[in-house]
Amino acid sequence: MNPQRESLEFDVVIVGAGPSGLGAAIRLRQLAAAAGQELSVCVVDKGAEVGAHILSGAVFEPRALNELIPDWRDRGAPLDTPAKEDRFLYLTGSRSLRLPTPPQMHNDGNFIISLGALCRWLGEQAAEAGVEVFPGFAVAEVLYDDAGRVRGVATGDMGIGKDGEPTHNFTPGVELLARQTIFAEGCRGSLTRALFERFDLRKGVEPQTYGIGIKELWEIDPAKSRPGLILHTVGWPLDHSTYGGSFLYHLSGNLVSVGFVVGLDYTNPHLSPFEEFQRYKTHPAIRAHLEGGRRISYGARAISEGGFQSIPKLTFPGGLLVGDAAGFLNAPKIKGSHTAMKSGMVAAEAVFEHLTGGANADEVAAYPDRLRQSWLWDELYTARNIRPAFRWGLLPGIAHAALDTYVFRGRAPWTLGHHEDHASLKPADAMPKIAYPKPDGVLTFDRLSSVYLSNTNHEENQPAHLRLKDDGVPIRVNLDRFAAPETRYCPAGVYEIVREGTEPRLQINAQNCVHCKTCDIKDPTQNIVWTVPEGGGGPNYPGM
Ligand SMILES: Cc1cc2nc3c(=O)[nH]c(=O)nc-3n(C[C@H](O)[C@H](O)[C@H](O)COP(=O)(O)OP(=O)(O)OC[C@H]3O[C@@H](n4cnc5c(N)ncnc54)[C@H](O)[C@@H]3O)c2cc1C
Ligand code: SF4
Repeated sequence: MNPQRESLEFDVVIVGAGPSGLGAAIRLRQLAAAAGQELSVCVVDKGAEVGAHILSGAVFEPRALNELIPDWRDRGAPLDTPAKEDRFLYLTGSRSLRLPTPPQMHNDGNFIISLGALCRWLGEQAAEAGVEVFPGFAVAEVLYDDAGRVRGVATGDMGIGKDGEPTHNFTPGVELLARQTIFAEGCRGSLTRALFERFDLRKGVEPQTYGIGIKELWEIDPAKSRPGLILHTVGWPLDHSTYGGSFLYHLSGNLVSVGFVVGLDYTNPHLSPFEEFQRYKTHPAIRAHLEGGRRISYGARAISEGGFQSIPKLTFPGGLLVGDAAGFLNAPKIKGSHTAMKSGMVAAEAVFEHLTGGANADEVAAYPDRLRQSWLWDELYTARNIRPAFRWGLLPGIAHAALDTYVFRGRAPWTLGHHEDHASLKPADAMPKIAYPKPDGVLTFDRLSSVYLSNTNHEENQPAHLRLKDDGVPIRVNLDRFAAPETRYCPAGVYEIVREGTEPRLQINAQNCVHCKTCDIKDPTQNIVWTVPEGGGGPNYPGM
């Protein structure tokens, strides 16, 4: 324990102001108000403001929001582009073939939104409901009591220099103590990882599998704007053994959200998800939307794709997991915000009952029970076999998805498994090199000018938040065997091999990190560990 640290006590502390964390916070305060009880709730987020670190597509299914805030329209929720038309294309190098839209991708009744804007609005609703919302604080540590129960969390110290010594700006972290702590960190949370190990929460479930999603926001020629149009593609530029595809959504205000997702179980270390995305925009069917427009924002974030069979044990003494931290994304739909919000609400209901019902147990066992009774569970169960079947290739994957959807209706008497993404790379000399075209600066760009548009900023004088377990591995293993894949999968150009003199070395430009967590997932020997930098650092997405 750090004696300098101030501590604040709450009934419930929530780490992460995404749809899951804010959904939980609002529901807790609603329940307390309805019961006439006092219940203190705090939400803390590492982004400089709520929404600053949120990046999503996003086509939003309003099911959970309808349940949480039924009068969201009157309260001015930023859901102003109703979905109008779905198109699903198979791309070859120069042509596109329109395929029937899979039922999971029908978006009647949904909205094209900025999830960051929705979270900012949810943050205001939470504050109005009496939640203490603290953006700009990165939670660096889980606190345990003598019995090993989670008793809260601590935010990181601010003002520690590169050398690990306090600078004149030093401010100690704050302990946020709680009767229950809800971890809502999103995909690949750093505290969540520590909890997995400490409480063995992943025992007996399939490994989590991930994708990296890279997104740009464009202001397009008004003559081309089709608010409500939703376009998804599979095929080119990826080969058929690599899982992935694109999204392109027309928002109101002449905006287009365009992005590309690559499954992180890809095998060719020469592949660069960033360059694949840039290439994809040059396809005639895609460039037609963007030409004459201007790119205004950029970012990237990992996605949890493992689904139902990868859901860990959700509770432990003193706390529980919600949202993408637990892996509640529906991969065939590429949607996780409605399930994240729903899991937060269900967790809140179970926690409220637990704290006000005089329960003696440290663990909120009713949470997983209530989830099993909810629509979320059935949705994830019936979607569970679609993503893993794509390891057989694109066309067998599509054929299996059709069989699973139309014949078995998601209830086939088997469940397909997953593999660890970091173990999937093959040696570089056994895989084809990929020659990516140079960016033209109009439709396609390089990494550095892209990161600039993410407004990423970190205090420079702080210890590196990207830590290597073994300093020799980047050269001995990553460079020699896999041709330094981190220089290609990192969408922000953080990792560079520099050759001064004769010996190559890995340079880590940590200040460019957009917190996507891909390195933490894909590094072949799990040698890179992502930890939280100083609070407020990282991207500052305007409306992603
Ligand atoms: C490219 C892309 C496209 C997507 N498209 C869609 C779509 O069209 N529709 C859809 O429904 N879903 C989509 N998703 C998925 C959706 O965005 C997620 O499922 C959803 O955001 C998960 O919500 P969450 O609350 O669990 O986590 P997040 O939204 O990731 O929020 C987590 C929050 O926790 C904070 N945090 C994390 N760790 C800490 C810490 N240690 N200390 C303090 N704060 C912390 C983060 O800053 C962040 O604000 C997409 C995702 C991506 C990446
Ligand atoms: S350093 Fe890691 S977390 Fe940061 S942007 Fe690169 S891959 Fe993502």
